[in-house]
Amino acid sequence: MKVLVLGAGQLARMMALAGAPLNLHISAYDVNTGNTVHPLTHEILGKGLASAIESADIITAEFEHIAPDVLAQCQESGKFLPGAEAILTGGDRRIEKAVLDKAGVNNAPYHVINLREDYDAAISKLGLPLILKSALDGYDGKGQWRIKSAEDLEATWYSVEAFLAGADDRQCVIAETFIPFDREVSLIGVRGANGDTAMYPLTENIHTDGILSVSIAADDNHALQQQAELMFKAIADALDYVGVLAIEFFDVDGTLMVNEIAPRVHNSGHWTQQGAWVCQFENHLRAVCGLPLGDTTRVAPTAMINMVGHVNVPQEIMSDCHLHWYDKAPRPGRKIGHINVTAASREKLAEKLTKLGQSLDSTEFPAVKEAADRLRC
Ligand code: AMP
Repeated sequence: MKVLVLGAGQLARMMALAGAPLNLHISAYDVNTGNTVHPLTHEILGKGLASAIESADIITAEFEHIAPDVLAQCQESGKFLPGAEAILTGGDRRIEKAVLDKAGVNNAPYHVINLREDYDAAISKLGLPLILKSALDGYDGKGQWRIKSAEDLEATWYSVEAFLAGADDRQCVIAETFIPFDREVSLIGVRGANGDTAMYPLTENIHTDGILSVSIAADDNHALQQQAELMFKAIADALDYVGVLAIEFFDVDGTLMVNEIAPRVHNSGHWTQQGAWVCQFENHLRAVCGLPLGDTTRVAPTAMINMVGHVNVPQEIMSDCHLHWYDKAPRPGRKIGHINVTAASREKLAEKLTKLGQSLDSTEFPAVKEAADRLRC
């Protein structure tokens, strides 16, 4: 079966690696160049969207910031899963918030801002502190403003006003109540076309400067897992979703609140490559290709450490972990690979992370020690 992935980054690459044993042939459509490329070598396989669609059996996506006309063309083919509506939802916080409300899941109170009067209304409705997020093109904490006190109000408005003036007409800003969360967790789940679902255990995420640093899959909190799974089902059903869907939550004193969703395989699910019976990449392909879903059981406590920008990775750490390079040139803030560490128990995982923390530069890998400390709590 031939699967076309919209986007030609590391997620398409890892789908190709996971799909090969199932005889699933992955090609990647680079939305920037309009070329279809091999997801590993980036060799050009074809030009133009129409021929890419024509030669695919199934179309899916590895990111959500895709032009609406590209999504519409894929949707028209009848081959696109999870489909244009789901991708648009993940790429536009305004639509996302409406879907979360429709699904009836707990999420931060919000107000949509286009004009100064909306801004003033947001402040009187939600109070302070507030976080403002661009509706489109927001990822890894980009396109955000934080308002801590009344003193910040005027300066923030001028910045938001300038941002909106320079943006296209579809852009707006979402104001959200600032949630004083204890920690951030995410759920990666998969839904088949027949409505079957399978979900991985919750992952705890540590971010540095808005970018995911470490994900830890070692928790067995059944009450939280249950809350997350119910919300997954509500959202996935509301979108009639097919494929892997990631949901990021705030954990506020044992109650989960959805922060955002990603209609695709997700960085906080990379641990499943070594830590689960069937990884998220294979499960996504199974779902969109109409194959039975795979077992999402965690085989061992696992942590995933992102490699971001220029990093030194001593070879000797390979005796304790798996390296996944993306074959990408390092640039500040760019994810170029990740490290998966599995261990027989939570305590052993903490030990391994402590040892890794001693081999890795703490400015390049800022959250490894914190992850080890969290495992010991
Ligand atoms: P996002 O791009 O929405 O995931 O936001 C990036 C980061 O900002 C999140 O990982 C949180 O740490 C923080 N954040 C986002 N929304 C809120 C909120 N409503 N309250 C507090 N922190 C937030």
